[in-house]
Amino acid sequence: MTVDLDTWRTRAREWLGEVAPNFGRDARRGLSEAEDLALARRYQAAKHDAGFAGINWPREFGGQGLSPLHKVIFEEEEMPLGMPSAYFGVSLGMPVPILMRYGSDEAWVKQRVLAALRGEEIWCQLFSEPSGGSDLAALRTRAERDGDSWRLNGQKLWTTYAQHADYGVIVARSDPTVPKHQGLTYFWVDMKSPGVTVRPIKLADGKDHVNEVFFDDVRLEDRQRLSPVGGGFALAIATLMIERYSAADPAGFGPPLDAFIELARTSEVNGRPALADGRVRSAIARHYALRAGLQAITRRAMLMMEAGMEPGPEGALNKLVAVRSRQRLSELALDLMGTLGLAWRPGASGKEDWATSWLDAPTGRIAGGADEMLLNTIAEKVLGLPQDHRPDKGVPFNQIPV
Ligand SMILES: Cc1cc2nc3c(=O)[nH]c(=O)nc-3n(C[C@H](O)[C@H](O)[C@H](O)COP(=O)(O)OP(=O)(O)OC[C@H]3O[C@@H](n4cnc5c(N)ncnc54)[C@H](O)[C@@H]3O)c2cc1C
Repeated sequence: MTVDLDTWRTRAREWLGEVAPNFGRDARRGLSEAEDLALARRYQAAKHDAGFAGINWPREFGGQGLSPLHKVIFEEEEMPLGMPSAYFGVSLGMPVPILMRYGSDEAWVKQRVLAALRGEEIWCQLFSEPSGGSDLAALRTRAERDGDSWRLNGQKLWTTYAQHADYGVIVARSDPTVPKHQGLTYFWVDMKSPGVTVRPIKLADGKDHVNEVFFDDVRLEDRQRLSPVGGGFALAIATLMIERYSAADPAGFGPPLDAFIELARTSEVNGRPALADGRVRSAIARHYALRAGLQAITRRAMLMMEAGMEPGPEGALNKLVAVRSRQRLSELALDLMGTLGLAWRPGASGKEDWATSWLDAPTGRIAGGADEMLLNTIAEKVLGLPQDHRPDKGVPFNQIPV
């Protein structure tokens, strides 16, 4: 099935315009998290009914069978409206597509995929740990054979929305006697199993969507294994690559530059409008140039996709540059606001509130690849520089000094 991209954009814009008063930023103001999540589930079901969920997923799984470009276009239209889609971002972004590809029990997988697509169930991604984040293959959670099944012991960290999750995908060490990338196996886990404990972590902006998750002797059936034994790292990489095509936000998920210009118009520096101040003007010009550059990279990626080509690794620039720009601009905005900048609006969105945006920006510089890792990607994949020194290469995991 093909739908012309312009027609698709118009159709998405019209539908979103109709439902935004019920589900958008204004409808969500003042809701508790439980109320917001309930609203989000209704929005996700409405999206599915209208043909805007699973846009680039196969039709036999309840998707629309369209291209990644159709998905990106829908996200571009949806993003400015403050719709409650974040609860399903990880779930539909990575774990569920992996389940769709590698899950073994077809009927069960189809049920799960449809329930996730309609927002009835949520999946989380249990990769990072206290000793394995950027270097995922350093993880220590153990999966040990127990007859025909497995026992899981260890701790995961920073798991987004684990407190709402019904299921998760997890990578664990099944063999510590081989080099670190070879001894990992990939499973799905029922988050309601005995021995799973989820503890939310409160972040600087008051939100607690990330969690510590503990596994104490959790039993996994072998049918929960999604990779070959010892083949978990390749599937983990496949999981991280799956969500390569998402709408990029040149504002780094902070307020747009226009909001800063408006603030500069209405605030003063040394008794004069801030907009007349040379430093403020130069900051506006710099952030405009950075964001215009990112928009050009995104446009180029979209044109490549339209032509059936794969966008290159330069996409790594997007998050790196956009979130840094957001952090610096938010700091400057707080300076311009003076003591008013300290006023705290609980539950405010980082897309419209400078204080929330500033407090939340550091997590954006870590989640989904820390700045330094993105710089490594750019150095190695875009500029062709040599790889980092890897002293643990080929060394059995249990012989790496800790
Ligand atoms: C808001 C949020 C949500 C998240 N959600 C999830 C989730 O749902 N599931 C999940 O599994 N994980 C999640 N994470 C975890 C995230 O993937 C990790 O935090 C990230 O990969 C960094 O790992 P780390 O925290 O262990 O830091 P480390 O890897 O310990 O890094 C610490 C510092 O050292 C730097 N560094 C590390 N290695 C190198 C290197 N080789 N060269 C140069 N510098 C280096 C890093 O850039 C960083 O500045 C989330 C994190 C955040 C903040």
